[in-house]
Amino acid sequence: MSLTYQQAGELTWQWLEQIAQVSETDDPDCNGVTRLCATREHREALEMLSGWMGDAGMTVRSDNGANLIGRYASANPDARTLLLGSHQDSVPHGGKYDGIMGVLLPLALVHYLDHHAIALPFHLDVVAFSDEEGTRFGSTLLGSKVLAGGFEPAMLDAQDDQGVTLRQALIDFGCDPERIANDRYPPGDVLGFVEVHIEQGPQLEAEGLPIGVVSAITGIERHKLSLHGQAGHAGTVPMHLRQDALVGAARVIGLVDELCKETDELVGVVGKIGNSPNGVNVIPQRTDLTIELRSPDDATRLAARETLLARIDATLAGLDLRLDQQLIYEQAAVQCSATLVRRLEAAVAASGVTTRTLFSGAGHDGLAMQALCDIGMLFLRCERGISHHPDEAIQPSDLGVALEVLARFVTDLAEDECRSPGAQGAST
Ligand SMILES: [Zn+2]
Repeated sequence: MSLTYQQAGELTWQWLEQIAQVSETDDPDCNGVTRLCATREHREALEMLSGWMGDAGMTVRSDNGANLIGRYASANPDARTLLLGSHQDSVPHGGKYDGIMGVLLPLALVHYLDHHAIALPFHLDVVAFSDEEGTRFGSTLLGSKVLAGGFEPAMLDAQDDQGVTLRQALIDFGCDPERIANDRYPPGDVLGFVEVHIEQGPQLEAEGLPIGVVSAITGIERHKLSLHGQAGHAGTVPMHLRQDALVGAARVIGLVDELCKETDELVGVVGKIGNSPNGVNVIPQRTDLTIELRSPDDATRLAARETLLARIDATLAGLDLRLDQQLIYEQAAVQCSATLVRRLEAAVAASGVTTRTLFSGAGHDGLAMQALCDIGMLFLRCERGISHHPDEAIQPSDLGVALEVLARFVTDLAEDECRSPGAQGAST
């Protein structure tokens, strides 16, 4: 009996349900999935994945960054490698799909290829990255930085809440942190990296589409602002003489919201605010807030920053408030490879689905992997855009669609690679 895409999708669904059980249970209020880097749960998840990889005839290895890599090998040992994968870890009380779905879909694809005896002219490596979220040690993209050569040894000194260093946690996990630099893929050997991930936004669902192609991963900047006014009695200081820091903050929040609504491909938020003295009958002396801006286009984001800061200055001057402002974080946008985008769009169209390209507003392992090779991403629709939450949900039948798209992408790439070996994929 031949395995269909939908059947491979059903297999993925069963695996997703099974591996979701591998979650911290110490917390009585714990719901959802909590699976952090270099923990007992991580170990258990890798054992489960190794078993499924072995069932599909893959060779399995783990590296010194606690990544698990299964290989569906080409007959040619010197062939280059296509990387597919995502992260095994979750946020605390996260969902069943963020990350791990992008490990299990490629794994089901290998089952499909193996079942149909489809040989590839390149190695296909399925990666379960150890840590993308950065929940335990506070530094994101750990696994992908190891594979791409971007791992900084200083990261090993990061500590978890119990004071355990990343170095010690990796040693306890069976890794040799001193040898992490050897785990980088040789750049010329890699055809590209493609990740499938839930969208974490509502766009595909709103348009009735199961899958979309990612054009870029957003750039991000964060600012810290302190607005200084003058505290005073809320009953005795006349309104026209007040220097109310919180009134200034309210205007700033409005300015951020307005600018983002009037600018294409720009989103932003004031997500954190602190007010002092924060008394019911005291004029606020000082208000601290953060501003975050995101755009897939760096020029858009930088222009927006300039406009926003000018508007804030003008507004606060009118309120007689003093401002301290500091850029505290900046990450440039990363464009997906135009070639991989085109190939993925073709695979989506060939699967009978309307092609839709969208950018990722969240960070992903591709941010680190682009230092190694071309990157591409597929988004799967998720319910109401919810992620990082136990209510994360997908439609089971979308897994079959994703498998068809992945299979078409991989087999088309294989055909072209056979026609003109070495011409596919360009390492950056
Ligand atoms: Zn994720």
